[in-house]
Amino acid sequence: MRKLLILGGGTAGTILANKLRRRLPDDDWMITVVDRDDEHHYQPGYLFLPFGEGTRNKIVRSRHHFIPDGVGLVYGEIDEICAGDNLVRLQDGRVLAYDFLVIATGTTPRPDQTPGMEGPQWQHSIFDFYTLEGAERLAQALDSFDRGRLVVHISEMPIKCPVAPLEFTFLADAWLRRNGIRDRVELEFVTPLDGAFTQPTASAQLGHMLEDRKIELVTDFMVERIDPDRKVIVSYDQREVPFDLLVTVPVNMGADFVARSGLGDELHYVPVDQHTLLSTQHDNIFAVGDANNIPASKAGSVAHFSAEIFVDNFLQHTAGRPMTGSFDGHANCFVEAGDDKALLIDFNYETEPLSGKYPLPGVGPMSLLKATRINHLGKLAFRHLYWNVLLPGRPMPLPARMSMAGKLPAAHITTSDPGGTKP
Ligand SMILES: Cc1cc2nc3c(=O)[nH]c(=O)nc-3n(C[C@H](O)[C@H](O)[C@H](O)COP(=O)(O)OP(=O)(O)OC[C@H]3O[C@@H](n4cnc5c(N)ncnc54)[C@H](O)[C@@H]3O)c2cc1C
Repeated sequence: MRKLLILGGGTAGTILANKLRRRLPDDDWMITVVDRDDEHHYQPGYLFLPFGEGTRNKIVRSRHHFIPDGVGLVYGEIDEICAGDNLVRLQDGRVLAYDFLVIATGTTPRPDQTPGMEGPQWQHSIFDFYTLEGAERLAQALDSFDRGRLVVHISEMPIKCPVAPLEFTFLADAWLRRNGIRDRVELEFVTPLDGAFTQPTASAQLGHMLEDRKIELVTDFMVERIDPDRKVIVSYDQREVPFDLLVTVPVNMGADFVARSGLGDELHYVPVDQHTLLSTQHDNIFAVGDANNIPASKAGSVAHFSAEIFVDNFLQHTAGRPMTGSFDGHANCFVEAGDDKALLIDFNYETEPLSGKYPLPGVGPMSLLKATRINHLGKLAFRHLYWNVLLPGRPMPLPARMSMAGKLPAAHITTSDPGGTKP
């Protein structure tokens, strides 16, 4: 009996457990998932909580419901991987053996990494929305916020769902307008990037959307510390941004046990081949989802598309054959624009987001790089697909690799009204 151990029962780990159980014979393979608790969070739902939309019970479900029969689920805090001995140690002393290991323990916001962030203002005037508790506390703070400087801030890249801070900013602008207090609030977006986003065309379009909404963009801001007494964030080049309410995305890092096990880079992500997700150090270890260091977005869509390619590769690899599948970094992300509209971006390692229609060429119904109501409805509908199709590993009618069908070359992209602010 060969043993496959999957560390982490989040998006990637759960999809893989379901897909692999169907493909690996029960008599030959024992599959076990390890996670610290029984709460599976639909993290995209955190975005809406601060604005009073959504509830905890729509975001959290029992993890074990999504782990299929025939797969073991072990609850415990992972302490260390002993790769030389093919063993994983849990903090409570239990030891699990494996023949093949998949690391799918994601990435976590780490406010402790920026001096002053967790100081006396943490969850008083400094909040995050990358955790359930953070998003809930921020909702309370927004309830009593009616004037001043609202600063949305990214500490360092990479972060999971890199568009989420922009989405939060657009939703905040719409929420302030709806509440009749937009003219009393200065809204600012502070980023370590040189523009609104990472990819040039999308960055320009999203930058226009900030401008249209009179949201100030502060770029190249590498945060050194937060001064909680003076309520300012300070960059390494000693620029200061004052705030009344700071909504920050703390440094994101892979799991500490990855570093303790000698398997991580400086941010505790596992170095892997970007096409096969096989560890660059060990021939029986893979890392899937946010836990690896591939130069793609850290997003549920990437976990999903890469898992599709991974499964066939895993079967070939464990049968001693070369892996023929190649992941291309495919990501697609809805970008909430406020006022019940959203953009959709679709891209990979080589190709930046382009305009056009998705998923059906010429038909859509989704529009790329354009704010529409259908895209917004698509984003809302995705929660249902997540629980019922994606996590159980059922087939989705979307190609795992990026398709150029229906896409227009960059020269055809219109920059007038990309955010759909005009009637
Ligand atoms: C606010 C927000 C909005 C987002 N919006 C989108 C979106 O619109 N579209 C999109 O595609 N993606 C979105 N994402 C990103 C998406 O949620 C993640 O990329 C995705 O969940 C990654 O899956 P994963 O399996 O790699 O990690 P996760 O789903 O985070 O799972 C990791 C698992 O590992 C477990 N674990 C970690 N360390 C240990 C340990 N030491 N011991 C035991 N267990 C451990 C955790 O408990 C967790 O269950 C969003 C994320 C956030 C925060």
